[in-house]
This record gives sequence, structure tokens and C-alpha cells, in this order.
Amino acid sequence: MNGLNEMSNFASRLIRWQHQHGRHDLPWQAADAYRVWLSEIMLQQTQVATVIPYYQRFIASFPTIGALAAASEEQVLTHWSGLGYYARGRNLHRTARLIVEQHGGEFPRQYAQMLELPGIGRSTAAAICALAYHEHRAILDGNVKRVLARYCGIEGWAGEKKVEDKLWQQAEAMLPESPRPSGERARERGGFDNDIAIYTQALMDMGATICTRGKPKCTVCPVQHDCAALLTGRITELPSPRPRKAVPERHATFLLLIHGNDILLEKRPGSGIWGGLWCPPQFDDEAAAKDWFVRNGMNASNGERLETFAHTFTHFKLHITPLKIQLSRKPLRAAQPGSVWLDVGEALQAAIPTPVRKILRELHSATF
Ligand code: SF4
Repeated sequence: MNGLNEMSNFASRLIRWQHQHGRHDLPWQAADAYRVWLSEIMLQQTQVATVIPYYQRFIASFPTIGALAAASEEQVLTHWSGLGYYARGRNLHRTARLIVEQHGGEFPRQYAQMLELPGIGRSTAAAICALAYHEHRAILDGNVKRVLARYCGIEGWAGEKKVEDKLWQQAEAMLPESPRPSGERARERGGFDNDIAIYTQALMDMGATICTRGKPKCTVCPVQHDCAALLTGRITELPSPRPRKAVPERHATFLLLIHGNDILLEKRPGSGIWGGLWCPPQFDDEAAAKDWFVRNGMNASNGERLETFAHTFTHFKLHITPLKIQLSRKPLRAAQPGSVWLDVGEALQAAIPTPVRKILRELHSATF
């Protein structure tokens, strides 16, 4: 592991690199805590280029925490539709309402208060403190874990507590040495007082653009001269991967009930996969789908099985077979609460998960 001097050196090299080569045009940079929070949540598991248009649409519709809290969950999920990991969108909405109730609509100023909010963990709270309030706090998101595991030569899977603890220790030890005056005083001075914000952004940018998962660009890396992974030829070994475990495979049949240009969609329960989103009725297999169909007094012999495709979640892979049935009349189930008939084009604008969007796009292009 590197010594203390190298560590503070690490911070100053990153800060210098950030001034010259880092990203300076991200729409959430130099923003308030609400915007930093939103960007941090959207960036979890998702790349910057994907996030930017979602972020811009979101902020245009919900420019304040109050506006977000006043929106319906349906509106929020519609804006989130396609970004994946929908619990993030639901938590964001729930948290905005809590902030209005408990903090008068102002994003809490204290780190400890942030940690009490749903969906805000140690690294996210630290990023908000550092980027919005210039507070000296260490972050440790996925990209930073990779940079530190390589630079410090830390072995072991970061999902293990003892490895994560080591990474946190390093992340804290590597912070720029001394906080400088921050906030208004510094802005008045017009100086670079916000080193912690620049350093935090530098770490994020370095992980995203230089110390990438595959083929890191070590020749242009600001810390290449004392990077443990580079010096010991372990770049491909670090960070240590998650111990291999077979990903469970599951199967589902989506029943596409079509009447004219309309399709039947059901709202998912609030928790679980795709909670609160609209999906076609789902069954374990085709037999169960047809059984439901027959119980509703219809003839299932005219179903058309579309091509099966896979959708990968964090913990399993779902193989989806859409079964399309053209109806001459609408079944009773459509009248039940939580079900709706929507024109396929209109359904594409609703809060739907990515695999449903894929199916609807195919239906739409086949119809029009
Ligand atoms: Fe990552 Fe290479 Fe830089 Fe080491 S030298 S921190 S492996 S980019």
C-alpha cells in the first residue's frame, strides 16, 4: 500500500488533472444539493451519457423538491421509464415528500440527516456534502472502488465487508490534506477554495474515463507513477471480481391482449420488480396464461407466440415469451382496478419497463 505522502500527493495530482482534463460541462456541476442528489441517484448503475437527457427532462418537469413532491408517482415513473432500477425513482419521490414534511422542502444540510433519508447511503451523502456544500468527505462509489483497489493494490471483492472497510479507510486517507475556507467567503475571494468538490469530481471522472473497467488508459493517468496495480502488473486482476455464482434463470409469459390498436396493461404492486410500472399480464408459462384465458370464457387457440428474449436483472435473468392474442371483445379483467386498455402508441409514453417498451415498439411498428 502507498504511504501517507503519496496519498496527499494523489489528491493534488488528481485536482491538477481535473482542471486540465476533467469534465466541466455536466449539467449537475456547481449545482445545489437537490440537483447533485438527483444526479447521484440517476448515475448509480448508469453511465453519464445515458443519464444526461433523463436528468434534463426530470429537472425541466420538477425544478424543485417541492415540485417533485407534488407530482404523482405515475408522473415520476414516467420520467424514469427506460432508466432501469425503478426503486431509485420511487425512493426519490418518497424522499422528496419526506423532505417537504420534515425539512420544509429544503434539502437537509447535515450529513447525518441525509443518511436518514431513503435511498441515500454513505457515499451518496458524502458526494452531496462535497459537491454541493464543499464539505470534506470521502466518497466510494463503484468507479472509485476500482481506482482505489488498483492504485493501492487492495485485493478481494469489494462486496465483502472487510475489503470495503479497507477501501473506505483509503478513501478517507486520500482526501486533500487540509480543508480550505469554503462557501461565500471563498467565492468572494475568487480562488480555488473548493478543492474537495474538484477532487471528488476528479475521482469520478478518472474512474469513468481513465481507470476504466477494461483497458484503463494508464499512459495518461495522473497517478501512473506509483499505482500499485501498474507497478506490479496486476491491472487485469484488480479489482478482484465477485466470486462466481451461477445467475438463476427464470421464465415468464407476457400475455399481449390486443383489441383493435389497444393493449391491456396492469399496474404492478408498489414493491418488487418493476413496482408501480405498467406491464401486460404476466404468467409463469404459456399453460398458465391460457388457463387464465379459458377461465375468462375465451378461446386461447389463436395465440401467436413471439420470439423469446432475455432481460438481465442484478440477481437473475428473465426469459420473456410474449403471447399475442387478438380479441374480438374485451375480457372482464379489463374492468378491474389496476388494469387499463391503452392505445399501443399511448402505452409507449406511460411508465413502463424496458422489456415492455421493446415489445410495444415491435407491436407499434408492425401495426403502423
Ligand atoms: Fe488505473 Fe492505470 Fe491509473 Fe493505475 S495507472 S490508477 S490502473 S489508470
